[in-house]
Amino acid sequence: MSAEITGACPRQTNDSACPAQDSPQDSPGSLEGMSVVTLDDMSTTNILDILDRAAYIDHHRREVSHTCDGRVLATLFYEPSTRTRLSFETAMLRLGGKVIGFAGAQLASVTKGESISDTLKTVSNYADVVAIRHPKEGAALVAAQASRVPVINAGDGGHMHPTQTLADLATLRSRFGRITHLTVGLCGDLTFGRTVHSLIETLCRFGDVHFVLISPEELTTPQYVLDRIDSTPSCSYTETRDLSEVIGDLDVLYMTRVQKERFFNEDDYLRLRDTYILDESKLSLSKPDMAVLHPLPRVNEIAVEVDDDPRAAYFEQVRNGMLVRMALESMVVGDELEGYEPTRSGPPSGPACAQSGKAAI
Ligand code: ASP
Repeated sequence: MSAEITGACPRQTNDSACPAQDSPQDSPGSLEGMSVVTLDDMSTTNILDILDRAAYIDHHRREVSHTCDGRVLATLFYEPSTRTRLSFETAMLRLGGKVIGFAGAQLASVTKGESISDTLKTVSNYADVVAIRHPKEGAALVAAQASRVPVINAGDGGHMHPTQTLADLATLRSRFGRITHLTVGLCGDLTFGRTVHSLIETLCRFGDVHFVLISPEELTTPQYVLDRIDSTPSCSYTETRDLSEVIGDLDVLYMTRVQKERFFNEDDYLRLRDTYILDESKLSLSKPDMAVLHPLPRVNEIAVEVDDDPRAAYFEQVRNGMLVRMALESMVVGDELEGYEPTRSGPPSGPACAQSGKAAI
């Protein structure tokens, strides 16, 4: 299959229009050698296994510190990043591996006109795994197709950000002990916020979530994401402009920044960027155990005063981000975590193309 990089938000997986499916007899299955463009590229059992591994790593830092001895991670970041790049890199360093790469494509051959495919055909000779971030939707898929080694999508334009979703899921699981039977509010830039698209896509695979989509008229959720919810019988959504009106119903409030870099017109950005600001007074309308998530960086969407509230979970997300990346990097290169015993053996029912199945969490 070939893919063009487009400005649209395509549905992408490595080689299938459907999410990877679990069959009843499956164990999580190996991710060795696999690229991860979206989490649809793997089964729900794999996703849960990653979360289990991340939790194991958190309590066995020393034991896992030589898991990836001799391995090299390349980080190819064509777009600015602080957390995600450092998180990918720290993950490999904490597993005993090494890191090469660039941040800011102006430093690399892309300024001479090199294609992503050629860069990957080159870099995949040097590295065992590649993490790529690119402003264009579809870039990670193109990279995966050109690469000899696994490629992990670290964000492709407004499309997907699968490792952020793993961090989000790990945070939900640690807060609620589950990732289903939740009312999840997503607030802000739902058009360009790739983390929102990834998270909805993945939560739909597990099912039993009601989404409350809170955005200005100009930044509503793309139709392909709404279609995903619509095709999941146990999931539903409502759309609203008013955060205060719905905050009391939410288990989770996922705040996002307005994605300045995806706007063509600065005035539109300036008009929309402060539409939602979560401060203590708004937060006081929410349930005492609601969790506030944010993929960061925040601009003005969450007042600093909220940081000390027990509902604030966004710095936990950062920590979970590193742990899930440690799990994923070790898995795609095929290195076992010392002492880790997989406990999962395939859920009773895996997700079907219509996303009707649910996996046990
Ligand atoms: N860090 C997240 C991303 O790369 C969120 C953001 O930038 O707003 O998509």
